[in-house]
Amino acid sequence: MKPNVRPRVILRHCPTYDVERIRTIVREGLEELGLHPSGRTLIKPNVVSSGPMFPHAYTRPEFIEGVVLALRDRDEGKMTELAVGERCGITLPTRLAFDGAGYYPMFKRTGVKHYHFEEEPQVEIPLTHEGRLRDYLFTPEPVAKADFFVNCPKFKSHPWTTITFSMKNYIGIQDDRHRLIDHDHRLNEKLGDLQYIVQPQFIAIDAITAGEGRMLTPIPFDLGLIVMGNNQVAFDSVCARIIGLDPRTIDHVRIAEDRGFGPSDLASVEITGDVTLEQAQERAHGFKVGLVRVEKYFEGSKITAYAGPPPDSEATDYCWGGCPGAIEEAIEILRIFDKEADQKMPRMHVVFGAYEGPIDAKPGERVVFIGDCATWQGTLEGKPVQISSKYKSRDTKDPYDAKHSDIFAKMASVTARLSFAGSGPIRLEGCPVSVAEQVLALCTLGDVNNPYFEPSEMARFNKAYLMWKSVVVARRVTGKPYQVRGPCSRGEAAPEMDASDLPT
Ligand code: SF4
Repeated sequence: MKPNVRPRVILRHCPTYDVERIRTIVREGLEELGLHPSGRTLIKPNVVSSGPMFPHAYTRPEFIEGVVLALRDRDEGKMTELAVGERCGITLPTRLAFDGAGYYPMFKRTGVKHYHFEEEPQVEIPLTHEGRLRDYLFTPEPVAKADFFVNCPKFKSHPWTTITFSMKNYIGIQDDRHRLIDHDHRLNEKLGDLQYIVQPQFIAIDAITAGEGRMLTPIPFDLGLIVMGNNQVAFDSVCARIIGLDPRTIDHVRIAEDRGFGPSDLASVEITGDVTLEQAQERAHGFKVGLVRVEKYFEGSKITAYAGPPPDSEATDYCWGGCPGAIEEAIEILRIFDKEADQKMPRMHVVFGAYEGPIDAKPGERVVFIGDCATWQGTLEGKPVQISSKYKSRDTKDPYDAKHSDIFAKMASVTARLSFAGSGPIRLEGCPVSVAEQVLALCTLGDVNNPYFEPSEMARFNKAYLMWKSVVVARRVTGKPYQVRGPCSRGEAAPEMDASDLPT
């Protein structure tokens, strides 16, 4: 399919998670856009994390239930499959995220099929466009084969990419090992490349209770909106305008527009619905976005952060897509799981990138260099310290060879690194050092409760983890590979892009 050339965005008032009300609004949206689902229809929610500690991080199950029912209402007998699929975040099993979000009872009620993307074959999507980060990406087979793709994100801020609306929801169409490649200072370009995998015919965002400030632990913000549309760039641009942002300042929106995926200029977008853009903007007044530099984020806390530029500093002077943003999410997770986290945390200094300034560490205070690209030279506790870059250029990282690092392996490796560090400076390697690893490092250094050992979550976690691993083993035993080499068969939702799509 071509990205829709007549973009429309519909703003509808919806103050509650009432399934029938959502169903009616979404059905009317599909009618207005002239859409009927067909073939393999796949709904992609945002269930990055869930459960009682993350109540506002995910697309609510009532919302997805309303979308499922509305799609069935609009089916003219051409839908061959209706499924919901996701790969959640922070190295957890998607089974845990679906469980914590209350998705399984909804799957049962509606009879909708569901995919845990990490348990599906990962197929190769070749890329040929100019400016791509690499020549191929991997995505779960159900995404590649989707004929009618329905994107159902949650309306949230994001510490790496300012916002997470429709395009950013694509980070969940890759399994962990592929997702973390290029999840660094080129993250927005990666998001631009992911657009070539699939394009949604329909988008409906859960903006009933939006999330401001952060993406894993957002602060709830009642917007009372369902926003729907048929073009991803136009859609994200309208959502950006709702919270007072110029969409061209959001890098992944600008990149996608420049590659012909749709317009950001609202003059090219037809906006309808029972809420005007101005009324939506009034509702969103004061909504806090992400994108706070790490030095500022930790001001006033026991952690002092220092950030120099990442490699390829011609592109940016700060790594918005990697380690600095991950520590912001990590500390917020710890604060949720341990109310005394800030008091327990020792005075600590965290350093990112090629930092050249002083580190104001007093005797006994920990200094942690985070990420492969960290470099520094100076004196700590009267001893000379030289931290050299371990960064490997991206063309040495091949998605074929990417390895899965499961949460227990991460726990073991972080614990080992911290145990052998003694009292001197600590180096955490990786590009990026993920949110999960930084959570583990901070809770070890600060003697803060480990969220992965939270008693109320342990039983659910173990069950989901064991089921995931059983499926993986069963696949191996039956000779089904995790990755399938070579171009794969694609559904109707695969974008067809050529030079004529580029804006003139
Ligand atoms: S090591 Fe971390 S800070 Fe450095 S480029 Fe990679 S993700 Fe960014």
